[in-house]
Amino acid sequence: MRRREFLAGAAGAATALRSRARAAEPAVDAAPFDRAMRWGQLAFVENDPGRYDRDFWLDYFRRTHLDAVTLSAGGVVAFYPTKIPFHHRSAWMKEGTDPFGDLAGACRRLGMLVVARVDPHAVYPDAGEAHPEWIAAGEDGKPRRHWANPELWVTCALGPYNFGHVTEILREIAALYDVRGIFANRWAGHGTCYCESCRRNFKAASGSDLPGPRPDDPVRRPYLLWRRQRLLELWDVWDAAIREVRPGAYFIPNGPPGLESARRAEFLAVDQQARRGLTPPWAFGRSAKQYRAVMGRKPVAGLFSVGVEEPYRWKDSVQAGPEVRIWALDGIANGFRPWFVKFSAVLYDRRWLKTVEDLYSWHHRNERYLRNEAPIARVALVYSEQTRDFYGKDEAEAKVEDHVKGMYQALLEARVPFEMVHDALLDADHVDRFKLLVLPNVAALSDEQCRRLAEYVTRGGSLLATFETSLYDETGAPRKEFGLRDVFQVSFEGRVDRRVQNSYLALNHETRHPLLAGLEDAPRIINSAQRVHVRPLAGFPSPVTLIPSYPDLPMEHVFPRVPPTDERQVYLRDLGRSRVVYFPGDIDRTFWEVLAADHAKLLANAVDWATNEERPVAMTGPGLLDVTAWRQKESLTVHLVNLTNPMTMKGPFREFVPVGPFTVKLRLPEGRRPRRVQLLVAGTVPRAEEEAGVLVVTVPSVSDHEVLAVDV
Ligand SMILES: [Zn+2]
Repeated sequence: MRRREFLAGAAGAATALRSRARAAEPAVDAAPFDRAMRWGQLAFVENDPGRYDRDFWLDYFRRTHLDAVTLSAGGVVAFYPTKIPFHHRSAWMKEGTDPFGDLAGACRRLGMLVVARVDPHAVYPDAGEAHPEWIAAGEDGKPRRHWANPELWVTCALGPYNFGHVTEILREIAALYDVRGIFANRWAGHGTCYCESCRRNFKAASGSDLPGPRPDDPVRRPYLLWRRQRLLELWDVWDAAIREVRPGAYFIPNGPPGLESARRAEFLAVDQQARRGLTPPWAFGRSAKQYRAVMGRKPVAGLFSVGVEEPYRWKDSVQAGPEVRIWALDGIANGFRPWFVKFSAVLYDRRWLKTVEDLYSWHHRNERYLRNEAPIARVALVYSEQTRDFYGKDEAEAKVEDHVKGMYQALLEARVPFEMVHDALLDADHVDRFKLLVLPNVAALSDEQCRRLAEYVTRGGSLLATFETSLYDETGAPRKEFGLRDVFQVSFEGRVDRRVQNSYLALNHETRHPLLAGLEDAPRIINSAQRVHVRPLAGFPSPVTLIPSYPDLPMEHVFPRVPPTDERQVYLRDLGRSRVVYFPGDIDRTFWEVLAADHAKLLANAVDWATNEERPVAMTGPGLLDVTAWRQKESLTVHLVNLTNPMTMKGPFREFVPVGPFTVKLRLPEGRRPRRVQLLVAGTVPRAEEEAGVLVVTVPSVSDHEVLAVDV
């Protein structure tokens, strides 16, 4: 098995290498990244050398069955005897010692893949004095001191410091040590840099001066595009420098210049360490979906911290065990390879050690069911970076993210297994595996993107869209008409109500439409809080129509002024195999704000109606669960992550609240019979029956998670 996987992985990865690299060097074995299932990161602090217990960590890496480890090498502080001027060596590193090389070598001898970590975002005062051109500048042109430690200077990401000095550092590390990659933290800059080289280079590229701080500055978009291009060039320079001295090793960015451009990587690490503010417990899993949307089958690791984050950044803290577990488990269920992060090799608080060890031991025992050939979801949520950047701008949280979150929450509550799709990848290869694409206010779409979506519908795919979807072009400029007018068969009336007070949706049960299932005793439900005015271009069914706003005060005046209208609030097209649903209201965003149960039901019904086929996995039973389903080489895996918790919508899980029992119905691949059915957490063989190609399994109870594994 191992051997076969290795050969398959090696061949696949080698052909996937970029052509530039293929021309420059013989095909190299990229399979180590594919094989690495469990990652750990130990980030040294400057005074770790000589003070930390090396053997403790080696033992811990063994006990957690790490396949790969990321260790601090250089950048702000060098933990190896660098020869590069102004590459500041740790003041605790004794002459003749090599803390990074020592630990990296020991990990290699244990068979682990080693990645070196650098952090280039700051330098010491001597470097700033000798090389003022390395330092980032504020809008006033003055060099920027470090916000957290004013002793240091913040470096410019786009100029000679990264392109020259840091390139030399990466080359030195890759030449000296047996590493398979160099992972750079904070390599992409912090806000707009107004240094000499940024001013000059941007002017040369665009003819404009750098934009000011205003989000509606017309130069902001060209600047963001230029900055991304510059970072991609830097990525290429660093990657080439590393490969030149160590073929087969990669540059691995932390926080790439954009989701879409991340897909050039062979392996990615996604850094989302913990909750911050009001963070739903599925946030880490969502990141996994988003990055896999661009990475496909290539491995993606999810970095989670064991500490409390928030804006105060308690880097030496420890979260409650259940919180660490549920965060990591939801990432794993959604396709992340787990990667724990610990800063400081001297431990102040050891409580997290067992939490991670237990989780990783389970992962190791069951990894053949966690390798994930492909998700079996039939629904995908479209995510648009251009909508976020050029339509949402500085209001992206409310105008874009809240729609995505509302739709995500609705799909999750409905237990619909779903994936995400990037709006730059709407070609048949990326979307035809799905029956339904959901567009939660994907406002900014180019003509080309609209054409691809229309073709998807022509090929039999279904669409569900909300609010201002396709009412802007890819630059964020408003359109006079929906880009998807012909698909929706509605026309824009030129008006958007940005606040709709005390308005309702009439549910017209005489239509007997499946959209109203489960709402039979409700004559009306609340409307969304914003809506687009549209005019239908064809005949439509009318299960949901508008009850216009009426006064909500004084109480004596709270009665409808006009009878219910026949103005539809959802437009439903049945084209045979494909179906199209368009909500002119911001029902997804309103759902995120209000979390009304009726909206959850209406959205779930709309998804099922538009999908127009049985779900690949369906389940009954109580609670809030994230349900994901995967095809493996010789089996199927269904994850049930139990998010049922009184703290769930902020995330500080104190304990698990077991839920169950569940009946899970899993559609089997055509012509396959189940050979073995297991619950990988309970460690039991559940009651299971097969009926007409569907496996029906009873899961008695789920504490934090359960994983149903079916060998077929
Ligand atoms: Zn600069």
